[in-house]
Amino acid sequence: MAHPFFADRTVVLATMHRKERVIAPILEQALGVRVVVPEPFDTDQFGTFTRDRPRLGTQREAARRKAEAALELTGETLAIASEGSFGPHPAVPMIAGNCEVVLLLDKQHNLAIVGQELTTATNFRHQTVRSLAEAKEFAAAVGFPAHGLVVMPSATAQNSAQIIKGVTDPTQLEAVVLEALARSPQGTVHLETDMRAHYNPTRMGVIQKATLNLVEAIQQSCPACQTPGFELIERLPGLPCELCHQPTRSTKTAVYRCQRCGATETKLFPDGIKWVNPAQCPYCNP
Ligand SMILES: [Zn+2]
Ligand SMILES: [Zn+2]
Repeated sequence: MAHPFFADRTVVLATMHRKERVIAPILEQALGVRVVVPEPFDTDQFGTFTRDRPRLGTQREAARRKAEAALELTGETLAIASEGSFGPHPAVPMIAGNCEVVLLLDKQHNLAIVGQELTTATNFRHQTVRSLAEAKEFAAAVGFPAHGLVVMPSATAQNSAQIIKGVTDPTQLEAVVLEALARSPQGTVHLETDMRAHYNPTRMGVIQKATLNLVEAIQQSCPACQTPGFELIERLPGLPCELCHQPTRSTKTAVYRCQRCGATETKLFPDGIKWVNPAQCPYCNP
């Protein structure tokens, strides 16, 4: 399929973590674009998950900066970049969450369109352990060796020479854990899941989902001027409870806005449901 705004254009994908594996086939098929990865492109200058560089700004801003940098490097007009975050899920703080943002930046049409996926399907975890057996237990629980690990002296280690990333080999894991344990005055070593996409197939799957959501967002065009990316800008609560019919905090209407002409539209029941389950009602189930 060819998209009138994007067909036959080159999209620069700002990644050095092989995200093109999941992003390129989806965009090429849905938009008729050609995806290229510039070499070399150091996305780590924009912040990484392994603490050796602080992350700046929001996820969307971070993705935008990567996309801008890719355009500057290549002189192209269309770029895509993705940015992930990990931590307590905003709705369920006891559970780890992963939010992925995939952003399309189009200088020719002056557009930025975002796809997002928020999920609890992540192996994001860290633990300080006291023995090789504990380290192996942690590794097994987070899907090692299909998923990579980061091994470091402590949770607050700053010296990048002591932070061993991308561990996917059981023999190497054993060696680096034993060495770190032997060196540690406390007899401990800190383990983390490596969240870089090419070391984390679970995260790669979430990026794929966010890319599909991006395509969906691109396919929403403005009813007034047909510009793609007619964007959801606000969710308004008030969806009634099925049992007591009182309004709840769940979304009843969504407001969309065009980036180009500013036209807005309000849609009822954007999530496809008209009633809230009484289990989620603050009156029926306080
Ligand atoms: Zn418009
Ligand atoms: Zn109720």
